Amino acid sequence: FVRRFPTLRALARASRAEVLKAWQGMGYYARARRLHRAARHLVDARGGQWPRTAEDLERLPGVGPYIARAVAAQAFGEPVVALEANGLRVAARWTGERGRIDRPEVRTRLAATLAGEMIGQPPGRFAEAVMELGETVCTPRAPRCPACPVGRYCRLRTEGLDPGRIPARRPRSRRPTHRGSIVALIRQGRYLLQRRPMDGLLGGLWEFPGGHRKGRERPEATARRELREETGLLAGPLQHLGSIRHSYSHFSVELDLFRGPPKPLDVPTPPGRRWLTLSEARRLPLPRATEKAFQRLEDRASPGSGSRPGRGHASPPGATGVPARRSPRRRTPS
Ligand code: SF4
Repeated sequence: FVRRFPTLRALARASRAEVLKAWQGMGYYARARRLHRAARHLVDARGGQWPRTAEDLERLPGVGPYIARAVAAQAFGEPVVALEANGLRVAARWTGERGRIDRPEVRTRLAATLAGEMIGQPPGRFAEAVMELGETVCTPRAPRCPACPVGRYCRLRTEGLDPGRIPARRPRSRRPTHRGSIVALIRQGRYLLQRRPMDGLLGGLWEFPGGHRKGRERPEATARRELREETGLLAGPLQHLGSIRHSYSHFSVELDLFRGPPKPLDVPTPPGRRWLTLSEARRLPLPRATEKAFQRLEDRASPGSGSRPGRGHASPPGATGVPARRSPRRRTPS
């Protein structure tokens, strides 16, 4: 990503699709969109100049307290403490903190303690040192206390506390699995793809129509209903190509993949959708689950629509598009 956009201006000049494509596979797509917005704001409103304080940095799109403080300390030498996961762990153990580190008041307390220790130190180097200590010595499961350069002053070590209990965290909830169906609607070797809404999960990425299963609905019924609701189109005979599984950061998806032609075959293209060969579609930003669906389609290649992939026309002659009953909406990402 950094090779592709080596400067602020290069990132600001890029289209959103280019940014999302370069980010593809790294997850957390909202970060790419916010980075892009921030770059444009910095170039358009500030002549390409960075704010130099944590307070001003935090006004940029997508910049929260941690990033603002880390950049202010490390790039501009502002004496502020930035605590990420490693730093929080070190600070909690060092002070014997029993409170949960996801609580704001605990974080504030830990940051204030470290700020007291930082006086007279270069802020950037201090921040790096704390992070590195957490990465290399004060590790989550087995801290190497005898090798620790600050062990003599550490309450966890001097009081014999349990590193498995400090830092305290909120119990983890199980990652839910969302089940649904997706439809690879094929006509003359091209598949119908649509773009997810810009704001929200996987915003701006392209995928097949589809969505969540309702109650005891059969997978094919879900596929047909979602296709109709999202695009206004009906499908002819559908072939089931198995299910696609993918885990995102906070949930997993299990999607039944169906392939088949639209009914009638020469239906106009719904607004905002495109008929594309798989190789054309691969130039667009895609969610990982959609990439997996593409692979499945290639593995299970069949005549399907009666023509070879990549040899058809984008739309039948005369097709001008009809209003879709619904635009792509927030739903199970594919
Ligand atoms: S002494 Fe052990 S627990 Fe304390 S900061 Fe060092 S590595 Fe972490």
